[in-house]
Amino acid sequence: LQSLSLSTTYSENIAKMVSSITHEVRNPLTSVSGFLQLIKQTNDIALIHQYTDIALGELTRANDLITDFLTLSKSQSNEITPLSINELLINLYPVFKSEANLKDINLIADFCADKALCTVNRQHLTQIFVNIVKNAFEATETNLLSRQKEVRITTTVCKESLVIMIKDSGCGMSKTQLSNLFTPLQTTKKNGTGMGLYVCKQLIEKYAGTVNVESTVNKGTTIFFHFPIYVKVN
Ligand code: ADP
Ligand code: MG
Repeated sequence: LQSLSLSTTYSENIAKMVSSITHEVRNPLTSVSGFLQLIKQTNDIALIHQYTDIALGELTRANDLITDFLTLSKSQSNEITPLSINELLINLYPVFKSEANLKDINLIADFCADKALCTVNRQHLTQIFVNIVKNAFEATETNLLSRQKEVRITTTVCKESLVIMIKDSGCGMSKTQLSNLFTPLQTTKKNGTGMGLYVCKQLIEKYAGTVNVESTVNKGTTIFFHFPIYVKVN
């Protein structure tokens, strides 16, 4: 009886998930179809460009949503190996730096020398930091009040954990926004999916990590991650 009720709950959850995926992916597709109709009806080159950009943005959003949902469905079956998260970040840094330069953001990194290993999946950890740094850049770009556009990445070892801090000088968040931060499909961005942080949280918890967020409106946001160290290498 118990397994029957468990499997009912499971299939109910799957049904809910499928319905939300369908709904969320259909929205941008409907919007693309609307803008294609508008393009068909006009000869105004400026309008055609404007509508094409919106349609392309909506297609990117649909694609991002599918990527996020796929990560969730695959998160049970990936290879977990001892990895230096510090080195992973050092390797990702040039990619972040060139993105920051394009956006006129001053990216500052302060990586510790520690090579402590954590048991994690490389792709998942990459996805977490790409998502978080992307959010930090987007928030910093939209904060017109900040004098200095700055994002800072710091790593340290504290007790038995590797601590990663990502601090931005972005638009920040209100208390209400903060309390809904990891709820799926919550976004304040025109082309946002609202899935990035939800996926991050699932992945962080999968590796026994924690994430904490501090934020002040118009000043910025700081995100702290702790991942338990599996082997110390010095
Ligand atoms: P998306 O980026 O697609 O909107 P996320 O799950 O990555 O989805 O983020 C959800 C929301 O959380 C964002 O829309 C934004 O409102 C808020 N947020 C996330 N990171 C930051 C940040 N560094 N500064 C300010 N707001 C943020
Ligand atoms: Mg995001």
